[in-house]
Amino acid sequence: MQTLFLRKNEERRLLAGHLWIYSNEVDTKLSPLKSFSPGELVEIRTAFNKVLGLGYINPNTLLCARLLTSNKHEQIDTDFFITRIKQALIRREMCFAKPFYRLIFSESDQLPGLIVDRFDNVLVVQLNTAGTENLKDKIVEALIHTLNPEAILLRNNSHIRTTENLPSSIETAYGEPPEQVTLEENGVLFSAAIKTGQKTGWFYDQNYNRSRLATYVKNKNVLDVFSYSGGFGITAAASGAAAVTCIDSSENALEQLQQNADLNDVSDKITTICDDAFSALKNLQNNVKLFEVIVLDPPAFIKRQKDIPAGVDAYLRLHRAAMRILQPHGILLTTSCSLHLSRDMLLDVLRQAMIKEKREMVIFEQLHQSPDHPVHPAIMETNYLKGFIAQVL
Ligand code: SAH
Repeated sequence: MQTLFLRKNEERRLLAGHLWIYSNEVDTKLSPLKSFSPGELVEIRTAFNKVLGLGYINPNTLLCARLLTSNKHEQIDTDFFITRIKQALIRREMCFAKPFYRLIFSESDQLPGLIVDRFDNVLVVQLNTAGTENLKDKIVEALIHTLNPEAILLRNNSHIRTTENLPSSIETAYGEPPEQVTLEENGVLFSAAIKTGQKTGWFYDQNYNRSRLATYVKNKNVLDVFSYSGGFGITAAASGAAAVTCIDSSENALEQLQQNADLNDVSDKITTICDDAFSALKNLQNNVKLFEVIVLDPPAFIKRQKDIPAGVDAYLRLHRAAMRILQPHGILLTTSCSLHLSRDMLLDVLRQAMIKEKREMVIFEQLHQSPDHPVHPAIMETNYLKGFIAQVL
């Protein structure tokens, strides 16, 4: 195994518990990046030759290496992955009664670059780095050994792979993955299109927040904005909402939502609007009837630091538009998965929208990602989902 030497004092982040190394922290005289191939396993050492652990490298990316273990004697083989997958499985089984969850959440489960969503016997995997791509066979073997699944699908088409110079593909790694899988969440059934849907086909990170929504919707007229296949909207309909309107710009997502409505026998309560959320919200202002509960679950408006001003403005416009069609004393459930929009910033967006719309507000609940997306205490990127349930007076 080749050695990756860090420059003097550049071991601080790893010693603080983090798992990442940036290319400017590498001593390129002692270990020229060009001498490594993408995904290669490396031993990581300080400028004083102290071993920090083993990891993998991608010489072409700014975030160029990730630590897999601080134990230099550990073999990175199938058994290594079996051990870590088993530990992650035990964590999930602590929190979930049914086998539907994100089984592996990358760095948080000490498996950097690896995502595995479990739909009972079907696993959907994202290998997001050259390192995990190189270790693919061992990872797949370990998953088969640990979970004995019927099928494993590789959804290797995430945008992160482009940064890693990896090709985009959707392929079968094991068995015959079906087009659709059925999952159960908070007692509600959903069908997810694992091959053609967004990301892995389902957003497990909102599981807990959907269960919180269920508390507020009985006999209410609910609006689910950025609904995708109905995670929030169908949960509301199945939890006693009187009527649910779902907005998404994706026709495929709304077709899937109709299937999910049928699965739970709530089709008669559901209306879908296939449109840009901002223009749909504007059109709804002409309606006489206001909504009693509104859910906002937009995609990340802020992807890079420099998008912050425009992104914050978009969040503000969105919340103002929602408040205009929310009844007095109505409930607003809002979440953001933008890493660069902190919880405090989202709260400030709510506050500003409230002032500009001449409303008042109380916050009932603070939301976060479900426990199958555990947070790594040293890696703020793993703590990305924030939200609030507010009553707007
Ligand atoms: N609430 C969903 C997940 C939302 S993901 C759930 O619980 O599963 C974000 C969704 O926003 C995607 O379905 C995407 O198609 C949709 N979307 C993105 N930009 C949009 C826009 N401008 N207007 C309406 N929908 C949009």
